[in-house]
Amino acid sequence: MAAQGTNAPVFGQQSVRSGPMSARHFPITPVPEWETRFPWLRAGTTRPADPQSDANPLGSETGPATPDSVADPGVPPLQDMLPLTAGRPWRSVVRNRQVHGSLTLAHVDVAAGAWEVGEADGHVTRLAGVLLTVTIADCVPVFVADPVRRAVGLFHAGWRGTAAGVVESGMAALGATFGTRPGDLTVHLGPAICGACYEVGPEVFRAIGEPTPATPRPIDLRGVIKRRATRSGVRPEQVSVSGECTLCGDGRYFSHRRGDAGRQRSFIGVVA
Ligand SMILES: [Zn+2]
Repeated sequence: MAAQGTNAPVFGQQSVRSGPMSARHFPITPVPEWETRFPWLRAGTTRPADPQSDANPLGSETGPATPDSVADPGVPPLQDMLPLTAGRPWRSVVRNRQVHGSLTLAHVDVAAGAWEVGEADGHVTRLAGVLLTVTIADCVPVFVADPVRRAVGLFHAGWRGTAAGVVESGMAALGATFGTRPGDLTVHLGPAICGACYEVGPEVFRAIGEPTPATPRPIDLRGVIKRRATRSGVRPEQVSVSGECTLCGDGRYFSHRRGDAGRQRSFIGVVA
């Protein structure tokens, strides 16, 4: 599906303000080099505070969509976990129920608070102080930055979302909303299951549009996404790929295939 246009009204209906709760900070893997290349944004992926624990303070991938779930007294506000700078939290945190689809929301008018209304797997914005987030545990967090227009995007891309075209949808949303040209984009594919670990059936190769083997084979989903992004006009030298695997890595991440219930939260936002 295409973007919802320049005004995403589902985000204008309800809000949840963070309460006076103590801050809990989680280890964060930043997007390499972006802090120095793009000081106007923040982007990264949280890691479990305790990798051996299934405790999932960041919410499940397909978690409840009601704003009440954001206000669960047992769940610290994301604003507190991902501080913009000391003492200056994000004005809004965007999160949605993820459905492995291609819908991308363009956030051009976001009130203060945390937002979780409806379903989406992609988000774009250029509003300062609005943090876009997706939850991940093997799927690929796709970070995009347009330094010309200071717009950002974040897409949740497993094989279903990739097959549905979430990356292409997200890039189209940036173009339609902010005038972003694919050749201006810088893309990073974050921590995800690696090409050695992710064995899938022929139907997955077929759905993604890759040459279809006769039997199950490993697939490098990040390699597939990089090819799709460059086919859409992103310059190959502007695509970086994390070397970290959520499954066979050092255990710093939750992995759905490993059987973990927990999820990482990837995020991107414009700070100024
Ligand atoms: Zn691996």
